Amino acid sequence: MKIELVEKKRETQSVTSFIFKSPTPVKWVAGQFLFYTFPHNNPDQRGVTRYFTVSSAPFEEHIMLTTKLADKHPSSFKQKLFSSPIGMELEVTDTDGDFTVDLPRSKAGDPGKKLIFIAGGIGITPYRSILLDLDHKNLPINVTLLYANHDNNFVFKEELETLAVTHPTFKIKYFVSPKHIEKEDIQEAIDEITNESMVYVSGPEVMTEAFEKTLKEMGLPEDRIKLDFFPGYDSIK
Ligand SMILES: Cc1cc2nc3c(=O)[nH]c(=O)nc-3n(C[C@H](O)[C@H](O)[C@H](O)COP(=O)(O)OP(=O)(O)OC[C@H]3O[C@@H](n4cnc5c(N)ncnc54)[C@H](O)[C@@H]3O)c2cc1C
Repeated sequence: MKIELVEKKRETQSVTSFIFKSPTPVKWVAGQFLFYTFPHNNPDQRGVTRYFTVSSAPFEEHIMLTTKLADKHPSSFKQKLFSSPIGMELEVTDTDGDFTVDLPRSKAGDPGKKLIFIAGGIGITPYRSILLDLDHKNLPINVTLLYANHDNNFVFKEELETLAVTHPTFKIKYFVSPKHIEKEDIQEAIDEITNESMVYVSGPEVMTEAFEKTLKEMGLPEDRIKLDFFPGYDSIK
């Protein structure tokens, strides 16, 4: 299906959200991704296709892709995307992915499962969709977000903090390099929770793999861990 760029929203100096409309409605569950094909002249070895999370929530009724333009050697795909005018078209295929949240069974006073969301840099994208979706459905946000970034420019910071004001059980902890999310930080969040809790990790592949190892060392069973790997980034970006 073809989708058309209708708006570009600068989130930070290097991160932009691209908002698209589609001729037929696209259905997705908060946290899922799309597969994009973007033909362009002289593509580099990484080619003309990419996966990107849908960073918008379904109720927003548009597809939003949020990504970073590398300071050095951005791919031909990213150069073309960032320089595209409004009206540009991209090809996408159906949404996919299980980096989603099981909704609590009852709305009335059910705090739902306690969730721990670990985000590395641009790995925040699925959480925006999930958190806004929970809020829109008037469901509790029983979440501790551990959010690491290489500098102070946290993407979606304002939107996240607005949610934290209306949802007292939503807590955000920021980590700016060289400060990292340590075992103790995860342990502190885990200590408060029931055995039903889930830990989500989203970010660059190397970071996600490292946390997977840490969580297993901490004794978390595989069925309480969800991972979203972003290949192509070498560290927290
Ligand atoms: C399910 C899924 C969901 C995803 N969701 C998102 C998302 O929401 N947002 C997002 O941004 N990404 C997401 N990704 C990752 C995305 O698909 C890209 O892999 C990622 O954005 C990197 O893009 P790029 O390959 O165009 O590289 P770039 O972003 O252009 O570059 C990445 C890094 O590689 C370095 N580099 C580039 N070329 C060279 C070279 N020749 N030599 C040395 N270093 C080089 C750059 O300097 C930079 O540090 C997702 C991936 C998956 C699988």
